[in-house]
Amino acid sequence: MSKPFGPLPPEFAAQRGELMIGDRAASAWVAAHGSPLFVYDPAIVADRVRAFRAAFPAVDLHYAIKANPHPALLQAMAPLVDGLDVASAGELDKALRVKPAGAISFAGPGKRDAELEAAITAGATLNVESEGEAARALAIGGRLGTAPRLAVRVNPDMELKGSGMKMGGRPSPFGVDAERAAALVRAIVAGGGDWRGFHIFAGSQALDSQALIETQAATLALAERLSDEAGHMPPLVNLGGGFGIPHFAGDTPIDLAAIGAALGDALSRTRLRSTFAIELGRWLVGESGVYLTRVIDRKESRGETFLVVDGGLHHQLAASGNFGTVVRRNYPVAVTHRMAEAGDEEVSVVGCLCTPLDRLADKVALPRADVGDTIAIFIAGAYGATASPGLFLGHPPAVECVVQRP
Ligand SMILES: *Cc1c(COP(=O)(O)O)cnc(C)c1O
Repeated sequence: MSKPFGPLPPEFAAQRGELMIGDRAASAWVAAHGSPLFVYDPAIVADRVRAFRAAFPAVDLHYAIKANPHPALLQAMAPLVDGLDVASAGELDKALRVKPAGAISFAGPGKRDAELEAAITAGATLNVESEGEAARALAIGGRLGTAPRLAVRVNPDMELKGSGMKMGGRPSPFGVDAERAAALVRAIVAGGGDWRGFHIFAGSQALDSQALIETQAATLALAERLSDEAGHMPPLVNLGGGFGIPHFAGDTPIDLAAIGAALGDALSRTRLRSTFAIELGRWLVGESGVYLTRVIDRKESRGETFLVVDGGLHHQLAASGNFGTVVRRNYPVAVTHRMAEAGDEEVSVVGCLCTPLDRLADKVALPRADVGDTIAIFIAGAYGATASPGLFLGHPPAVECVVQRP
């Protein structure tokens, strides 16, 4: 019995014959740029942004750039989103090239003094993760003679159910425990900081729409409670995100309209006079990317057929099942010139790294592929090139391309 693989994103599912990415066939991409190769299509990201705007007309949209910080993709996305969320000084530099500092926020534990200073000097908002970090930021602001823009990241007292990565309701390196957040707000205001509001992120990669609705309602209620306790109105409430996308067989997309309607309803009743934002990474960019890799060797071993490709987990760790998943399951996969053909043989697609972990597709049914043919692994737009151990085994990095349109 072959093992199932995840659904192709809708933009790619209906292609006949050969896989098209943007207006070019996969073979043309590989001929022009070689392999292995990531191709990202900003038109797919723009579709996701349009869907978000329709469902959440009163909420700002931020992009968490760690999902995919490719400069040309960032350039294409910057005008489409209201803010960029970064998590290092390196990401801050990339964001500042495409967006004004006032639209950039910097979260993440362990910010060094030099990183705090870079953000304060630029005028970006720091989402502080602890009382100690807030004190360091205020001291640096004092030395520079500027009021640092500081938001308080809250470690919420609830978690996003059904999310791949739980981030709340427990001890955490992220954010200040909810019960201490109001005191920190008062300390920031008293210490001369420009308090920007709350950042509350309860989890990631959730496909359960009802859980997302409940978490957003609980997040809003928490922001209301903390604002009352602090005695200050937050200019911005970042409600987190956590919108998942289908990766595996049986996964279905979230019900964006239902989530948006529920949040719209809750916001129409809130007493907060704040700007609200949702920050998303993979939901915006994950489906926009395809990883293309060519078959180097086709071999049989004890009844199993292996397609050995020129790529692997050093570029696309997540597809090997070694990035944030407990059980290894297959990402959507295809033979790029046989999109219309049935999967009539069972193969495993393995990367070129000398480790059994390097398996990009396990016992899947695909149309026949031979040496020189190209395999596409989908959902490669998020947590791919920059989230994989690129130095492991010393192969060159994958080329990354962005579809350009006039
Ligand atoms: C990583 C991260 C995100 C993006 O998560 P996705 O699952 O890619 O949407 C959003 N906010 C914060 C604080 C993060 O650390």
